[in-house]
Amino acid sequence: MSLKLYNTMTRQKEQFQPRESKKVAMYVCGPTTYNYFHAGNGRMFVVFDMIRRYLMYKGYEVRYVQNFTDVDDKIIQRGNVEGMEPLALGQKYIEEYFKDALALNLLPATVHPKATEHIPEMIEIIQGLINTGLGYEVEGDVYFAVDHFPDYGKLSGRTLEDMKAGARVEVDERKHYPMDFALWKKAKPGEPAWESPWGLGRPGWHIECTAMSLKYLGAGFDIHGGGEDLAFPHHENEIAQTEGYLKGQTFARYWMHNAFLTINQEKMSKSLGNFFTVRELLVNYPGEVIRFYLLGTHYRSPLDFNDQNLVMAQKGLERLQTSVRLAQEAIERVGSLNNEQSQAELLKAASDAREAFEKAMDDDFNSALAYAALFELAKTMNGYVQEHPASSEGLVQAQKTLIELGEVLGLDLLHPANIQVENEEMMTQIMDAVLQIRSRSRQKKDWEMADFIRDVMKEKGILIEDTPQGARWQIKK
Ligand code: AMP
Ligand code: ZN
Repeated sequence: MSLKLYNTMTRQKEQFQPRESKKVAMYVCGPTTYNYFHAGNGRMFVVFDMIRRYLMYKGYEVRYVQNFTDVDDKIIQRGNVEGMEPLALGQKYIEEYFKDALALNLLPATVHPKATEHIPEMIEIIQGLINTGLGYEVEGDVYFAVDHFPDYGKLSGRTLEDMKAGARVEVDERKHYPMDFALWKKAKPGEPAWESPWGLGRPGWHIECTAMSLKYLGAGFDIHGGGEDLAFPHHENEIAQTEGYLKGQTFARYWMHNAFLTINQEKMSKSLGNFFTVRELLVNYPGEVIRFYLLGTHYRSPLDFNDQNLVMAQKGLERLQTSVRLAQEAIERVGSLNNEQSQAELLKAASDAREAFEKAMDDDFNSALAYAALFELAKTMNGYVQEHPASSEGLVQAQKTLIELGEVLGLDLLHPANIQVENEEMMTQIMDAVLQIRSRSRQKKDWEMADFIRDVMKEKGILIEDTPQGARWQIKK
């Protein structure tokens, strides 16, 4: 079946045809690392992770690049607030990103390049733009001359005249044209700065994505993604400087943008202060519930955030997990049943679910509709298990299909997160205490108590093993 996706550039759904057969090269604009990321950013990460996983399911080898903007005004300001050197602060929040990414089950990118590690590449591109007359220097700053790039506005569908009339761009006498944007910023005292042909300074925001995407994916890569706020001006500027630098070669083939996560219909954003960090949400909800919730609406539709919706998502996910568990219990039960009629029903339900799932996902990654296919299959499985609490080939296939399709969305339906990441430390501490108590019993030669503790833990699914280095524990899968 063929995959269609909505291309912001052409404003329509298009047949997906990659640059190279069976390979997809994707670049997604990652976070500015000055804080924990919020659920709105989380929506963007989860959406593109889902897109990547589905492309993998379709048999593509996906090269996925997601950058870290680790130097920028907001990082410098936040560094002052936290009393930390800005570059160290940027690194700190990169590490924190990976913890939350793990909780949301985001696959690590093939490359996670950092802006601060690509300054020479950016300088080279800026120099190239100056050489062709698209960039100009004013007292240590370098700007891009938008009116020298005839296609400026092609992604957002705006003309320079509209922008000039509608924009509230600060009047900067030094710019040739009000919409010109910074490629390089002259250093201010106390700020991180690098040597360049224009003196000490740091890159403007947009240029990093040009440098890093070209370096890791090359010109004309397949999918460029980000939140819808990035289409203008960030992506518009990326296109202008990249295609200007490449002398007209196409930068990226498909442009994809997710809609916002909103609160009371307003964009969740750090600057508005109406945000919840994923780290905060993880106190009350497992990462998989947050993920399930974020994928429950098509990525191009706004999604309003509130607790009730998260609770509903939790219930929905639990329904799927329960179905998988009940099937597992039936499969593990001794004796199998091969009632031909129910066998055929289950096999059909599994293949219908796969077909409906693929149809939904092939239509511009409609994960919300894909959920319906999973619930339908779960319902048939539940009905079967209630009537025939025994294993059958059909049940095995149906359960396998449900687990596999869940995995394509990054959901592990077989192992519900009853032990949340943030509870793992607590678990370790409790188990340390249990092992200490048991060790004390053994020292006192109270073997009965030591065995009793081991047996009770075993009943709870925790295995205690005695080794020459002392006792160890593990969760029995
Ligand atoms: P930032 O760290 O602000 O640069 O944002 C990182 C990514 O999250 C960008 O792709 C943004 O477009 C995206 N983003 C920011 N806020 C939201 C939101 N409320 N809903 C969805 N995506 C968002
Ligand atoms: Zn970018």
